[in-house]
Amino acid sequence: MTFRYAQRMAKVRPSAIGELLALGADPSIISFGGGYPDATLFPQEQLDTIFHDIIRAPGGAAMQYAPSNGLPHLREQIAQLMSADGTLCTGDDVLVLQGSQQGLDFAARMLIDPGDVIITEDPTFLGALIAFEPSQPKYAVVPVDSEGMQTERLEAILSANPRARLIYTVPDFQNPTGVTLSLVRRKQLIELANRYDLIVLEDTPYRHIRFSGQNLPTLKSLDTEGRVIHLGSFSKVLVPGLRIGWAIASPDLLARMGLLKVAADTQTSTLNMAAASLFLDRYDLSAHIATLRTAYATKKEVMLDAIRQHFPQEISATDPEGGLFTWLTFPESFDATAFMREVALPQARVAYVPGATFFPLTPRANHARFNFSAQSEANIQTGIAALGLALHANLSF
Ligand code: PMP
Repeated sequence: MTFRYAQRMAKVRPSAIGELLALGADPSIISFGGGYPDATLFPQEQLDTIFHDIIRAPGGAAMQYAPSNGLPHLREQIAQLMSADGTLCTGDDVLVLQGSQQGLDFAARMLIDPGDVIITEDPTFLGALIAFEPSQPKYAVVPVDSEGMQTERLEAILSANPRARLIYTVPDFQNPTGVTLSLVRRKQLIELANRYDLIVLEDTPYRHIRFSGQNLPTLKSLDTEGRVIHLGSFSKVLVPGLRIGWAIASPDLLARMGLLKVAADTQTSTLNMAAASLFLDRYDLSAHIATLRTAYATKKEVMLDAIRQHFPQEISATDPEGGLFTWLTFPESFDATAFMREVALPQARVAYVPGATFFPLTPRANHARFNFSAQSEANIQTGIAALGLALHANLSF
């Protein structure tokens, strides 16, 4: 039975990549696919006690409805974390979201009419494209190099796209490439957003997982006209299962996102907001993040060493200063999607995300995103070695 769906559903379809990644969920396969944190580093004991305590709190407050923009104490705590990182704000500037993913959905719904243009990095985060799609945007893309979005190309793109409304960027350790937007480009992006009257959607789930190099200011902290919507998340630095993210934005933008929040789900789970809040009261989040940084920095080195040792020399990988991913470039003729389906999964028993899916307009087949945080060091070595053998035998792909 096929029903008549609304036009906005036209491009809302499962991707071929989803099917491939589902195959990677087989426990006998070593998956470098998902953007998963290392589950062995989850603060399990602490969260166990926290959930026990909040359920028993007097009056059952953590089990009750809460304000739709989030628990006031949590909003204050988030504002403090943001301010300590140089993005000065108060609890009033914070909207708690169901993961930062919800902010991607709200931003598009709030700002994009069908046919309006969203500017993205090329490649960009697939989950953002999935969130934007029901708003029926068109895309204009800006290539990425080792210093992030090439903002020097932005002006020509903006002149050619008068319906551009929104620039979406992952400035820190981008998903999928791992690269970070330089300071010069951050300033140029803000200057152009001001000049062309655009909203900037700054998505920062990896920001605090820096292994080396200098912390750079957020776009929000460089924002001179209140046109940056900053999205943050506890998914990679605490646990993704809590589904706690947030938006920081100027009052009008934040209030309108707040209305969409009421429409979407009334509020983020009170239990999960209370748990995140108590974690921040009781424990040292920065100490926990320091542990993650050390662990992921080592895993990144293990993966890059294994790639150098086992992969054919023609294949290059980015060396990110933080985050969860490295981005591989294969010879022009190589098809990473076909290779995954026909060789990597069935023979090497290894999964990754083929790169084609991250390009909004013109897919390029000779790339792949590899996650280095989820697997153990031993599995990283085993998986990359197995893939290396398969690549040497099949580089003609
Ligand atoms: N943005 C980016 C760039 C991401 O990589 C992710 C998760 N992989 C998200 C947003 C969504 O994260 P969450 O909803 O868990 O906060």
